Amino acid sequence: MEELSRFADEFGPTKILHVYEPNSGLKAILVVDNVAAGPSIGGIRMAQDVNVEECFRLARAMTMKNVAAGLPHGGGKVVVYGDPKMEKKKKEIIIRALACSLRDISEYILAPDMGTNEECMAWIKDEIGRVVGVPAELGGIPLDEIGATGWGLYNSIDVAVNYCGFALSGATFSVQGFGAVGKHVADFLSANGAIMVGVSDSVGAIVNPEGINVQELIQVKEQNKSVVEYGPAETITQSELISVQCDVWIPAARPDIIHDNNVQDLRTKIVAQGANIPCTPGAENYLFQKGIVCLPDFIANAGGVICAAMEYHGASQKQAMEEIEQTVRHNTAHILDRSDKEKIPLRTAAERFAQERLLRIMATKRWSVF
Ligand code: NAD
Repeated sequence: MEELSRFADEFGPTKILHVYEPNSGLKAILVVDNVAAGPSIGGIRMAQDVNVEECFRLARAMTMKNVAAGLPHGGGKVVVYGDPKMEKKKKEIIIRALACSLRDISEYILAPDMGTNEECMAWIKDEIGRVVGVPAELGGIPLDEIGATGWGLYNSIDVAVNYCGFALSGATFSVQGFGAVGKHVADFLSANGAIMVGVSDSVGAIVNPEGINVQELIQVKEQNKSVVEYGPAETITQSELISVQCDVWIPAARPDIIHDNNVQDLRTKIVAQGANIPCTPGAENYLFQKGIVCLPDFIANAGGVICAAMEYHGASQKQAMEEIEQTVRHNTAHILDRSDKEKIPLRTAAERFAQERLLRIMATKRWSVF
């Protein structure tokens, strides 16, 4: 209870559960945040060093992402302690034990996050059934393979580009992180005439003002190589990518990479947050003051969770992609408009939008947060 009093507020969390099973080595925390809208969806993160408060913050981020996307789901999160690269047999035992320990917690639908994948979700399906993000053979929609998050991000950028008054065709962009999110958003943008001028991965970065061929780079990455092994481009350091001149700069790798000490180096009109919390609050304020559009993560990268929720409700891949397009475009347009009218940063506009919707849902309940 002591811990709860530090961060509990009008929105939750409704439940914090510690689970433990010595034979398997299972130690985990579940935070069920606000479930007024419906059972929570939020991924299982396997990590060595996440505490209850951090798990709560991740659960809260899912509450806001789900409610902003209009999904009938609240937010939750699991942290299961362990090295995500542990031996597969051991991981399987831990994940199966986790599933069994959460069998009766029907307010939480299990889902993948960092350190867990669709194979882990298949084990959970086998144990308790209540899971999303399972392999296609088990009825899942392979969201990273089809680029669900990249598709939503592309649509958010397209709306913002329009709002800024320039054309997507011929616009330039840079991507930090050429993984599941980064490569797909690059692919959708270049298929619509935009030109990738800079890109990085965990090894290094490259730049070419004439354009980097996205399809060819995807092939390079498929051979387990780094972007620096792509031929026609100049190699730069990872940190230099931030100052590459372009119309749209897309963080799609790690948190907090745009901060007080480097935000001034950006030479772009739009920052589109593919990664979760890639900008510190100070950096976002600076961008707002400078009139640079900064599309907040929980609006712009909601494609993945919309896809997962659609899978849970039995929708097809096509229906999921249509839903992502419609929702992300609508929400991006709404917050751009609101930020303009109320003279507030886009994140504030997005938070107000999500909180107002959540408060309307909560007002219909006997118990507010569940
Ligand atoms: P991923 O592991 O597939 O790709 C991450 C990429 O970032 C890799 O190419 C890696 O080499 C690169 N990278 C790592 N450190 C880097 C660094 N310091 N500089 C440049 N590149 C670096 O991961 P992903 O699924 O694409 O997720 C990326 C981000 O997007 C994460 O913050 C994740 O939480 C967020 N996100 C993902 C989804 C999704 O559907 N996959 C949905 C919402 C948010």
